[in-house]
Amino acid sequence: MSQCKDIWVIIEQAEVGGRSVVKGVSLEALSAARSLANQSGGRVVAVVLCGEAGSIEKSLGGCGADQLRIVTHPSLTDYNPLAFRRGLEALITLSPPFALIMGATNHGKELLPAIATAMNCGCVTDCISMEYSDGGLVVQRPVYSGKAVATLRFAKAPPFFITIRPNLFRGNNEDGGQVEISQEVLDLPDMEPRLKFVERNMESGKRDITEARVVVSGGMGMQGPENFPLLEVLAEVVEGAVGASRPVVDEGWRPYSNQVGQTGRTVSPNLYIACGISGAVQHLAGMSSSQCIVAINKDENAPIFDVADFGIVGDALEIIPVLTEEIRKVTQS
Ligand SMILES: Cc1cc2nc3c(=O)[nH]c(=O)nc-3n(C[C@H](O)[C@H](O)[C@H](O)COP(=O)(O)OP(=O)(O)OC[C@H]3O[C@@H](n4cnc5c(N)ncnc54)[C@H](O)[C@@H]3O)c2cc1C
Repeated sequence: MSQCKDIWVIIEQAEVGGRSVVKGVSLEALSAARSLANQSGGRVVAVVLCGEAGSIEKSLGGCGADQLRIVTHPSLTDYNPLAFRRGLEALITLSPPFALIMGATNHGKELLPAIATAMNCGCVTDCISMEYSDGGLVVQRPVYSGKAVATLRFAKAPPFFITIRPNLFRGNNEDGGQVEISQEVLDLPDMEPRLKFVERNMESGKRDITEARVVVSGGMGMQGPENFPLLEVLAEVVEGAVGASRPVVDEGWRPYSNQVGQTGRTVSPNLYIACGISGAVQHLAGMSSSQCIVAINKDENAPIFDVADFGIVGDALEIIPVLTEEIRKVTQS
């Protein structure tokens, strides 16, 4: 379908402290795209779909993109899967890129597979590596709840659709020099809105576990919701976010947005501290790609110790305050 070697990164923004910032995973997608473009000889194009152009250039200056393409339309003011899908489809049809990359976020997981299916193209979600090879693309993604890694080659012609696992493609946002900025108003025919944006409810002041560099998670071993403030204090000290196992969420001790695992969020922080979590395969599916795993469990045979880099056998309720104090001493000295 396309000979173009450009790689598009679909940028996502989040509200932090009342202002819009580019999500960490989008910067990681740019870094992944840059490595790929260096191999393929294409350009990296950061695509921003929005209601009206704001100050996005400032957040994306020097991020490694060759072009910042700001595409506006009133229907793109708030996220609406139908409008965003139609907008992206229109852009791709006009001049298809080699590949489109987005974070494996709720929006990424919803948008890219839908567009790829509609366009009869290949799509791989939750990728952990990608490589340009013989004019095509070879990617890897975890399968069987993270027990194995599948290596896949796109069989169909470009464009290739990819979502990447957050926190794995960091640190490569070299300054690509001059970023060409283009702004265009999308020409979309009026359509009867099938979905209408009603409101956004933010969990104020809480870090998103998929973006956090440190995740402090609690399981049933925390004994009850009254003990989770221990984890919140620890998370505060390490500038991290609080996660939870599924039964904790099922019990209503923590919101679903905290759930880590197969049916929750996938996290890959620098440090994952599992407190009173047994290490069931469904939990491991969401956190085993963390760079360093610390487990606190009173059962020395708990499976979580099989994946932990450091293990502490004991009562989490006694250990967490001591750990918090010790980390506080180190970070404040
Ligand atoms: C289809 C499916 C999908 C699932 N998806 C998910 C998912 O997304 N995420 C998820 O987490 N689970 C998921 N599960 C559930 C999963 O199988 C486990 O039941 C769950 O992960 C166990 O949670 P837990 O470790 O908190 O609790 P438990 O298995 O009850 O373990 C509690 C642990 O705490 C330890 N402990 C107890 N008291 C203390 C103490 N005072 N100090 C220290 N340690 C203590 C115990 O030794 C034990 O190891 C799924 C299951 C199914 C079937």
